Parts: sequence; C-alpha cells; structure tokens
Amino acid sequence: MIDGSVGGNSARWLNHSCQPNCEAIEDGRGRVFIETIKDVLPGDELSIAYGLTTDEAMTPELVAGYACHCATKRCTGSMLALAYA
Ligand SMILES: [Zn+2]
Repeated sequence: MIDGSVGGNSARWLNHSCQPNCEAIEDGRGRVFIETIKDVLPGDELSIAYGLTTDEAMTPELVAGYACHCATKRCTGSMLALAYA
C-alpha cells in the first residue's frame, strides 16, 4: 500500500498528476517501487496517477474531496480511478 499519510513513508513526496512522470510497480513479492516513465531532470517534481478507489458511495461531496488541480492538459479533475459522472 502506498499511503503517504500513514507512517510518514517516502511516498508522501509523490503528488498526484493526471499526466504523471512515474508509475508504481509491484514486484510480485509485495514490494512497490516507483519508476519514472518519462525523462526527469534534477529538481523536477515526481508524480503518479493515484487512481484512488473507495468503497464509499460516490457522492458529490466525496468526489469533491478528491478533486485534482494538476492543471495538465489531460486533467480529469479527480484523483479517483473513475471520475464521478
Ligand atoms: Zn489532474
């Protein structure tokens, strides 16, 4: 599980983007690695598409709580895997 809010692990430095430069790779043994999928330069912000899911009912309030403001050309407006329709 990658959750930067739990235990303060290094995943807390990865912000969400709808056009990320990294992706999470699970090695089949329960370990998750972050790999770049685009060239990055020193000082570039690293980002992944969170693709968050929830078992809670998709209400406008819940969706608003996961709003994305990455401002990329392909921004879906949500950090959820499936944007509220
Ligand atoms: Zn976005």
